[in-house]
Amino acid sequence: MFYHSTRNKALSVSSAEAIAQGIAADGGLFVPDSVPELREEDFEALKGLSYAERAARLFKLYLTDFTDEELRECTHNAYETGSFETPDVQEITTLADGSMLLELWHGPTCAFKDMALQILPHFLTRSIQKTGIDREVVILTATSGDTGKAALAGFQDVPGTRIMVFYPEDGVSSMQKRQMQTQEGENVRVCAVKGNFDDCQNGVKAIFTDPEMQEALARNGMQFSSANSINWGRLVPQIVYYVSAYVTMLEKGILVPGQRFVLTVPTGNFGNILAAWYAKQMGVPVQHLVCASNINKVLTDFIDTGIYDRNRDFHATVSPSMDILISSNLERLLYHMTGEDDAQIREWFGALKTAGRYEIPAELKNRIQAEFSGSFWDDAATKDMIGKVFAENGYLSDTHTAVGICAARDYTAKSAEKYPMLIASTANPYKFGKAVLEAIGGDTDADEYEILDRLQEKSGMKIPAALADLKTKEVLFRDSVAQDQMPAYVREKLGIQ
Ligand SMILES: *Cc1c(COP(=O)(O)O)cnc(C)c1O
Repeated sequence: MFYHSTRNKALSVSSAEAIAQGIAADGGLFVPDSVPELREEDFEALKGLSYAERAARLFKLYLTDFTDEELRECTHNAYETGSFETPDVQEITTLADGSMLLELWHGPTCAFKDMALQILPHFLTRSIQKTGIDREVVILTATSGDTGKAALAGFQDVPGTRIMVFYPEDGVSSMQKRQMQTQEGENVRVCAVKGNFDDCQNGVKAIFTDPEMQEALARNGMQFSSANSINWGRLVPQIVYYVSAYVTMLEKGILVPGQRFVLTVPTGNFGNILAAWYAKQMGVPVQHLVCASNINKVLTDFIDTGIYDRNRDFHATVSPSMDILISSNLERLLYHMTGEDDAQIREWFGALKTAGRYEIPAELKNRIQAEFSGSFWDDAATKDMIGKVFAENGYLSDTHTAVGICAARDYTAKSAEKYPMLIASTANPYKFGKAVLEAIGGDTDADEYEILDRLQEKSGMKIPAALADLKTKEVLFRDSVAQDQMPAYVREKLGIQ
C-alpha cells in the first residue's frame, strides 16, 4: 500500500516514509491509496484475540512494509507491558438508557490519545530504520491539552528522538498543565504559547513546512516529524480500536454480525471521528456518525451548511481538548469524498489559509450529511449531562464525553429508527476534575489536588495514580512565547542556527 499527499496525488511514499515525515512537504496529509475491506469472517477471526494481537493483524493491512514480527513487537510494547490499567486496553460500559461508552482512557495519561501515542514511538523508530534515515527525529507537537502529555509520555527517552510540545497558555485544564510541566526525560521540552490551540497548530505547521528551517535541521543531522493526528501513525491505531470495539460487541452478544449501530464522537481536530469513518469504510457496520462539538461549533456548521468558516470568536470551554477552529483531518475526508481531487483540496485549503473559509458544493454536502450529523453543546448543557449521568448511573463522565452523550441522546431522540448507540469516551473525569465536581454538586473552592480527593469521596471512583502522583513532582518547564517567537525558540532549544 502506498500513501499520497492530499494536495498532490502524484506523490507516493511507503507507510514508513509517511510516518517518519508526519506531514507531506507540500503541507498536505498522507492518505492511503485504498481502504482495506473486512468481511464478516475477518471480524470473526479477530474474536478471542487480545487487543495487541488484533491490533497487529489490522496494522498489517495498512503498514504493508512492516513485517508481522515488527508489528507484533510494536503492539506488545505498547499494549502488553502494563501501561494500560485494564488488560483489555479499552472497556465498554453500558448506561441505564442502553447507550454504551467506549472507554479509551485507561492509558498512562488518562485520555484516549494514549491509544495511539503509546505505539507511535515504536512505529516511528522502526520507520526511521526502514527508510534508512540516519538523523535524529524532532517531534514538534501542538496540543489542546491531551496530545501533549500523551506524546511526552510516549517519546520520553526514546533513543534517536527529541520532542517539543507547545500548548495554549490559558487554554488547558490545570491538571493538563501540571501533567506537561512536570514531564521528566532527557529529550523533552514543553512551552506555553500566548494564544489558543489554533495559534499553536499554525505555528507548528509553519515551522514544519519552512524550507529554511528544514535545511537548518538537515545540516545538524535532524529532521522533523509529528505526533499530532496529522501523522498517519496516529490515525491507524485509532481505526483499530473501533474495529476491535465491534468485535468485542459481537463477542459479548451485544450485536449480531452485521448489526448496525450509531457511533458518536466528541470532536476537535476531526482525528478520532475520521478514524471511525475509516473503520466504517472497512466494513464495520456503522449506520451513522454523530460529530459532537462544544460551542466552538465550526464542524456542526460545516456539516449543516457546507461552509467551513473559521472567522469567528474562539471560546474557552470546560472541554478544552475540543476548543479548535481548524479541524485538520477534515482534509483527509474531503480528499476521499471528492474522489481524490487533489487540485480541489489545494484550492479549498489554500482558501482556508488566506481567507479562513471555503465552501463545498451542495452535492458533496449531501453525501457528507448522509454519513455524518453534527450538534453542539455549551458548558451548561455539558455539566447538566455529567450530573444527570451520575444521578442515573452513579457513573462519572468527563466533560468531553458528556458533550458526546448530549449529542448522542439528541440524535437518538430525533431518529425514527433506533439503533444501538456507542459513544467514544475520551478522557478520565479526573483530568477535568473541577468542572466535573461542580457538575455533581460539589464544592470546588479548593486546589486541584483537594478537588481530586473531593471527587473521589463523592463518587467512589478511584483517583488515577498518574494524577495523584503529580502533587509531589517538580515543575520543570515554565517557558512561554508568542506564536511568532516559536521558530526562534525551536532553533535555540535545538542549538541550531
Ligand atoms: C483530543 C481530544 C478530543 C478531540 O479529538 P480529535 O481527534 O481532535 O477530534 C476529544 N476529547 C478529548 C478528551 C481529547 O483529548
